[in-house]
Amino acid sequence: MANEKIPYKIYLTEEEMPKNWYNVRADMKVKPAPLVNPGTLQPMTAEDLAPVFCEELIAQELDNDTREVPIPDEIRGFYKMYRPSPLVRAYCLEEKLGTPAHIYYKFEGNNTSGSHKLNSAIAQAYYAKKQGLKGVTTETGAGQWGTALSMACAYLGLDCKVYMVKVSYEQKPFRWEVMRTYGASVTPSPSMETEVGRKILAEHPGTTGSLGCAISEAVEVATTNPGYRYVLGSVLNQVLLHQSVIGLETKIALDKYGVVPDIIIGCAGGGSNLGGLVAPFMGEKLRGEKDYRVIAVEPASCPSFTRGKFAYDFCDTGMICPLAKMYTLGSGFIPSPNHAGGLRFHGMSPVLSQLYHDGYMEAVAVEQTSVFEAAEFFARTEGILPAPESSHAIKVAIDEALKCKETGEAKNIVFGLTGTGYFDLVAYEQFNNGTMTDHIPTDEELAVGLAALPPQPNL
Ligand SMILES: *Cc1c(COP(=O)(O)O)cnc(C)c1O
Repeated sequence: MANEKIPYKIYLTEEEMPKNWYNVRADMKVKPAPLVNPGTLQPMTAEDLAPVFCEELIAQELDNDTREVPIPDEIRGFYKMYRPSPLVRAYCLEEKLGTPAHIYYKFEGNNTSGSHKLNSAIAQAYYAKKQGLKGVTTETGAGQWGTALSMACAYLGLDCKVYMVKVSYEQKPFRWEVMRTYGASVTPSPSMETEVGRKILAEHPGTTGSLGCAISEAVEVATTNPGYRYVLGSVLNQVLLHQSVIGLETKIALDKYGVVPDIIIGCAGGGSNLGGLVAPFMGEKLRGEKDYRVIAVEPASCPSFTRGKFAYDFCDTGMICPLAKMYTLGSGFIPSPNHAGGLRFHGMSPVLSQLYHDGYMEAVAVEQTSVFEAAEFFARTEGILPAPESSHAIKVAIDEALKCKETGEAKNIVFGLTGTGYFDLVAYEQFNNGTMTDHIPTDEELAVGLAALPPQPNL
């Protein structure tokens, strides 16, 4: 089929959809560092993690060796409701840019959560249900994860308690109205409902919250209520495993037409979409079979990869979660209030952190006004109103395509279009009104968060 004209949208049949997730850790020579107990500084065992996470998810979290993990039929059935997602050849964008590059994007915004997060939400809810739990707790920032988890819990009949970063709760009331429609309870964080929330509010009255803070509250509620466990929408190894469905579908679709990507680009918040998109390609790279350029794109106002430290740190502000070794800005880091583009987490997936540290990936930081310029250009060209998060990847895909225009190279560029931006119109409004500003933290500002890293384990 190599010479066949590539369609605007490459769909897979249900039969062609992946039957296994792919665990990239199996092919990593240097494995991601283990989660560590903040008290003893020893690696967390399955037993240590059991009060917080579901059993089967703990097994997936700790398994660095199993390459293929079968997708249970129930989850595959749910996937078929909204997957396979299309791989789009961006002919219109290529033409507008006048680039010889071939641009493809994998569009994950075709479900009500408006993002790729549903791919892991349904898996996590499924394992919670299988364990006979009553419900799950979680945090949400921009709201996509909370929505995805609410959808998955509604489908499986599980209770869902969401702690939503206060600034997003206030900026995006319709987002939590969707979650309520799916039966979830949504509490702005920090709240007075939890010990850690009360403590954070006493120390920082009037705080608009952060993901790290909402995580602390959700973990506390899960560990103090029988029948509940905590689930997380990004960062963790298990989440990257579930999200590998994105990359596997992408690879099957490209292989059908004999297309080999030169550059693979994804936005990076906690690393789940990028980790999922690149997984099978990274596997080939790790095994020495092929080479690809992989680029992580992060906001200049929350630059974990490009300006953070590779060290053990807390995943949450309340410092009750295990320590993860990752690129981090410090668990106390909160992006400047003018930051509207999402991707606000202070840390990064340990898997991607290790790969970046070992030179398998590049990272770039971009400023939000340039991200929204790219978003606007894309919306006007390809029709889809992109999520601000996704637009980080769009920005760099366009930059790379323009470089091809200079050199005349017809490179194949693939990027992840993780979601839609219908709930991000306050940010678009700022951009349209010309009131959006950029904030690049100074070295001094970053030093504050980095100085507060916990004692490092000696493993
Ligand atoms: C959550 C989210 C992201 C960032 O999270 P990752 O774990 O880094 O993928 C990106 N895009 C959208 C649309 C999201 O909802």
